[in-house]
Amino acid sequence: MLSEFELISRYFKRPLHPGSRTALGIGDDCALLTPAPGCQLAISSDMLVEGRHFFAQADAYALGHKCLAVNLSDLAAMGAQPIAFTLALALPAAEEAWLEPFSSGLLALAQKYGCELIGGDTTKGPLTISITVFGEIPLTQALRRDAAKIGDDIWISGSLGDARLALAAYRHELHLDAESLHTAAQRMHQPAPRVALGMALRGIAHAAIDVSDGLSGDLGHILQGSRVGACVDLDALPAGTILQQQPAALRHDFMLNGGDDYELCFTAPSHRREQVLSAAEQAGVEVTRVGIIEATPGLRLVDGNDNPVVLTLHSFDHFSA
Ligand code: ADP
Ligand code: MG
Repeated sequence: MLSEFELISRYFKRPLHPGSRTALGIGDDCALLTPAPGCQLAISSDMLVEGRHFFAQADAYALGHKCLAVNLSDLAAMGAQPIAFTLALALPAAEEAWLEPFSSGLLALAQKYGCELIGGDTTKGPLTISITVFGEIPLTQALRRDAAKIGDDIWISGSLGDARLALAAYRHELHLDAESLHTAAQRMHQPAPRVALGMALRGIAHAAIDVSDGLSGDLGHILQGSRVGACVDLDALPAGTILQQQPAALRHDFMLNGGDDYELCFTAPSHRREQVLSAAEQAGVEVTRVGIIEATPGLRLVDGNDNPVVLTLHSFDHFSA
């Protein structure tokens, strides 16, 4: 059986990158980070608990990817560049058959974004994975939730709802053919954090949030934080490739109330439309304009002909679900 320290050095300790912000990595009481001059640190934690955020038999490689991806998504939503992360892990047993694929999935994504694992904690217990990410952002350039302005366009990156559709199929609430399920499930298991887009939107977008609990609730956080309201065109919302084939009522429900999308919802002044589109192109992600920020509080939904639509909105909440 592996000891705690063998486990850390075999699966998690890697050489530091040249030019990294890490002055001291895994092995001491603390890691040491040196942010670039003129930058702030953006810091966020997200925890994944077996049985709550993932199934007991979840593929370990995909889980390693996902637990870092959801944290990188928070940095993306702030416009921050990832620099480092810590990993707190509770494991029922030190099983190499699980640790090997888990650390490979985790560290492959970390490498892709130049985000170094600089420390953590390891303990025995029910499988729980808690990551804290550190990002860097020039002073005053963070994309905050309280910065939306009346008249701003509302934009969404990529597409919404396929992860929720895969969950519905897993729960036998509806049927998908094997190929469709595979495509939709990729969105659930392998989310792509929109880091390049978040960084490209610095100085262009006003407010941003990542859509993790459903668009209606997450946009709601921007509206509350910024003390504004919004009008959203349901027919403009970008449905996932598999969700597009479903009836409109289900499409709208899963896009507004779904979750696990990890797309960015952001606002930007209408005179910056061209800049938004070129930032998206530079980042290699599509963006869709779905609405407008208004003075009247609350979220108003319309169809493509500007007729009001009334739908039940319920974003995900761990203590009311
Ligand atoms: P402490 O006793 O100070 O909590 P530990 O003995 O738990 O330190 O950890 C030893 C070193 O290994 C520390 O630098 C810690 O940050 C790092 N570490 C522990 N667990 C992990 C992990 N899961 N991933 C990365 N680094 C870890
Ligand atoms: Mg410890």
